[in-house]
Amino acid sequence: MALRKGETVALVILGHIRGHGCRDLLVYCGSGRCHHSATMNADWLPDETPVRSLCRRMMCTKCGMIGADVRPDWGAARQQTARRGDFLAARALIILYALWRAACRPDSRHLK
Ligand SMILES: [Zn+2]
Repeated sequence: MALRKGETVALVILGHIRGHGCRDLLVYCGSGRCHHSATMNADWLPDETPVRSLCRRMMCTKCGMIGADVRPDWGAARQQTARRGDFLAARALIILYALWRAACRPDSRHLK
């Protein structure tokens, strides 16, 4: 994960979540009214792309709102891991998910 000057929590980048088997993103409309969401494959984006940087680049195809909540789709990655029966990889995903949740707190410096 990349850590910029002045940041206390490292940015989660696509290359990092790909390293844990996560290739898709969950995108939720930022309007707070239409509740539209979608799953998006992120294979075409560069590894060094911070996941949170995608939020302001999304546009809802239902209401036209610019801005969305973008998160890794850990559900699909967990299912693939469970099928392989790889306990350690599953534990790493849970730890990474906890880090992701901590980075998404409103008081995180990189969100300001
Ligand atoms: Zn919308």
